[in-house]
Amino acid sequence: MASKQKFVYTFSKGKAEGTAEMKNLLGGKGANLAEMVNIGLPVPAGFTITTEMCTYYYKNGRKYPHELVKDVEKALKLVEDEMGAKFGDKNNPLLVSVRSGARSSMPGMMETVLNVGLNDITREGLIKKTGNPRFVYDSQRRLIQMYSDVVMEKAADIEPAEGKGIRHQLEVELQKMKDKVGAKSDTDLSADNLKSLIEIYKKKVKEVLGKPFPEDAMEQLWGAIGAVFQSWVGKRAISYRRIEGIPDEWGTAVNVQSMVFGNMGDTSATGVAFTRNPATGDNYFYGEWLPNAQGEDVVAGIRTPNPINEVGKTEHTKHLHSLETAMPKVYKELHKIQNLLEKHYHNMLDIEFTIQDGKLYMLQCRVGKRNGPAAVRMALDMLKEKLITKHEAVLRVEPNQLDELLHPIIDLAVEKKTSVLARGLPAGPGGAFGQIVFTSVDAVEWAKKGKNVILAREETNPEDIEGMRAAQAILTARGGMTSHAALVARGWGKCCIVGAGTLKIDAHTKTITCGSIVLKEGDIITLNGSKGNIYQGELPMIKAAEENPDFQKFMKICDEVRDMKIRTNADTPEDAAKARAFGAEGIGLFRTEHMFYGLNAEKPLFLLRKMIASNTEAERRAALDQLFPFVKSDVKGTMAAMDGYPVTFRTLDPPLHEFVPHNLEERAKLAKSLGISADEFNKRADALHENNPMMGHRGVRLGITYPEITEMQVRAIFEAAAELIIEKKKPFPEIMIPVTCAVTELRHQYAIIDKVLAEVCKKFKLKELPHMVGTMIEIPRACLTADKIAEEAQFFSFGTNDLTQMGFGFSRDDIGGFLPEYLDKKILPVDPFNVLDQEGIGQLMQIAVEKGRKTRKDLKIGICGEHGGEPSSVEFCHSLGFSYVSCSPFRVPIARLAAAQARVKEDMKKAKKKAKKK
Ligand code: PEP
Ligand code: MG
Repeated sequence: MASKQKFVYTFSKGKAEGTAEMKNLLGGKGANLAEMVNIGLPVPAGFTITTEMCTYYYKNGRKYPHELVKDVEKALKLVEDEMGAKFGDKNNPLLVSVRSGARSSMPGMMETVLNVGLNDITREGLIKKTGNPRFVYDSQRRLIQMYSDVVMEKAADIEPAEGKGIRHQLEVELQKMKDKVGAKSDTDLSADNLKSLIEIYKKKVKEVLGKPFPEDAMEQLWGAIGAVFQSWVGKRAISYRRIEGIPDEWGTAVNVQSMVFGNMGDTSATGVAFTRNPATGDNYFYGEWLPNAQGEDVVAGIRTPNPINEVGKTEHTKHLHSLETAMPKVYKELHKIQNLLEKHYHNMLDIEFTIQDGKLYMLQCRVGKRNGPAAVRMALDMLKEKLITKHEAVLRVEPNQLDELLHPIIDLAVEKKTSVLARGLPAGPGGAFGQIVFTSVDAVEWAKKGKNVILAREETNPEDIEGMRAAQAILTARGGMTSHAALVARGWGKCCIVGAGTLKIDAHTKTITCGSIVLKEGDIITLNGSKGNIYQGELPMIKAAEENPDFQKFMKICDEVRDMKIRTNADTPEDAAKARAFGAEGIGLFRTEHMFYGLNAEKPLFLLRKMIASNTEAERRAALDQLFPFVKSDVKGTMAAMDGYPVTFRTLDPPLHEFVPHNLEERAKLAKSLGISADEFNKRADALHENNPMMGHRGVRLGITYPEITEMQVRAIFEAAAELIIEKKKPFPEIMIPVTCAVTELRHQYAIIDKVLAEVCKKFKLKELPHMVGTMIEIPRACLTADKIAEEAQFFSFGTNDLTQMGFGFSRDDIGGFLPEYLDKKILPVDPFNVLDQEGIGQLMQIAVEKGRKTRKDLKIGICGEHGGEPSSVEFCHSLGFSYVSCSPFRVPIARLAAAQARVKEDMKKAKKKAKKK
């Protein structure tokens, strides 16, 4: 271990060793605490143990280096000096909080221990100092509750049965005490009640965990530091990292900070706020606070908090006191600080504060999570306010967040007529319906079976992460907008309602009681997460309109910034029209065979089957002639919908046997139509069987063995285009040959295309018919011989579904059998059929691009595999200089944004390089 490595960074006396830039080392929380100290905000003194220490800890058998002890003691001394108190001192004790803080925030996923340093001796000193025994006993019982749970149980890898965890058992004791003395809420308990409760707690801890609660302050401190590091590998933190794609190697920092107390009586309080509304993006200070409480009460959702100001009051909270009216002076100061922070960071921030006896302290600030609609609104507003540039605005919205603007919502007309079962806080947008489940495990199980579920919990609980993910929506009876479930749901853009206080959600009996109505597991409810309304039964949903004016404005900015074109994969005139509304600038893949799957496909499918079962060219041509008008009509409709934009038609690709019917009746009909016996038909069908069809008789191979198939399709395309030209439209067909591996295949097909083109031009008396002819690049050999292929192909379109299949040697249809284990065992970081493998498949693509463009400088290059709508893959395509990406209609907006971001990031990189040179 390099002894010079610095593991502890202090912040005290208005000076911090860190800055906001140092997130990787100090974690988000530590870096921002340092920044707040540096800009002169009131922050309780403390220090941060770096994320590198976390990495060291795990690399070295969960041990710290010797130097750390000394460094921590030195840093603690600085805190003691500033706070004028001493850790573990019997007369004038300092208490600290110990909190986690990873690079990117993982709300509620890791551990915090408050009031560290309190024991039976130091508490006496603190009572003398504060003159407030009730507060001191309350703090001590909170410490025991948190510490025994976080340090003695979780960090010790004890996994109690449901309802047997120490925290829950202590909560039961708390409730018993409340019942005994007739206290309605925690604050009704007297000092004596709490003092007795401490003894009860200690006994219970010993009984359940087999160890006494540690009284030594230093032992408490190191126990808490270790538990925070330990929580990095806790089950729920790991699940969260998997979902969010946070690497395991990052580690967490530990922040040790002097305690300040929001629970010292009515002049004390705690709260969480956002500089703008994170659910709508509206530009006003938004937040929640609780008088006489500690931070955990707001975040854990134990008490439903008050609105921070008058403007933030809603129908449900209008009767509660705001901080603005309860403590106007402190509110004014806080308001000023939040303004200053937003101007300093040029972003919406999420802040935590505590008021101790009328004095305000800032405990945290970080860039606030926001849902899609809010992200778009804020980006637009901040651009208008000149707080950010156009390029920054583009980076402010995650491409996948755009989904939320296109979220399903409840049909308004029906909703209006439906009576509301209960109301809660609108924590996550959109509408959702589903069957009620009561545990995270059930949510996952039921969702696996393809059911729509809504996870109902009494209060928000970070341990439910997997279930929350699996559920369509989340519903809780307690908690506020800044509670864990609300934060996580918002981060995911998931429909979520919290704090529906009139509901009794009981996980044991698996029922929700609302007055006289009792809902059971499996019953269906519908949530409006934008309003906070809960309905019985299933309400119809409608897609959120693309008409959202913010959305359109934002997309326009993206379009101004990006240079890569966005096309769509569509196979019908209807899909083409939809994709155009989403902003598609052409079709990158029209899979001809898809027209045989859809609505009204019966007749053409019958004719296609007839063609497949034909044995001679004459038979096949007869069937193809019958098929021709159907293909032509679809092709024409699609080009008309995309008027002025290119449409890439792929010639028939899939193995023919896929289309052979199994149904005997259908077979008999086909046999009759071909004038052959059922036996003969079966023989022909069997002959089409292949052992490895994805590498069999498909793609261009079909066009080579049966040139008349290519001929019919090309004729349909050219004739349709010719008719449109005569109708004064501007069709631009691009004919694309699939699954090519050699330039000679293309040459063969081109001869057919040229012949048909000449015939069609003659028939329609046209001098020219604008079009292009190119190929898909789906086979590694095609990549390696791309220079030759480009001699013929005017464009390449990467079919990365097949290229991934053939590059990895993974069957795209059978990957489900082993992929989950590959991901679990980290053999692969992600599913390569979802996220493009830049390292391997990307290299093949790069070779193809370079070789192809060497032969043909102006070679048009695109992608039409599923990766064309996946943001990181879009960015990669941009970096290779693609002309366009093509994806399914609903992903078009995502691709538009991803392409704009790719442009901005490239510019930023270039600027950085230039600055370095200077
Ligand atoms: C591909 O292989 O990427 C592709 C777009 O073609 P298909 O998925 O139809 O094989
Ligand atoms: Mg393919």
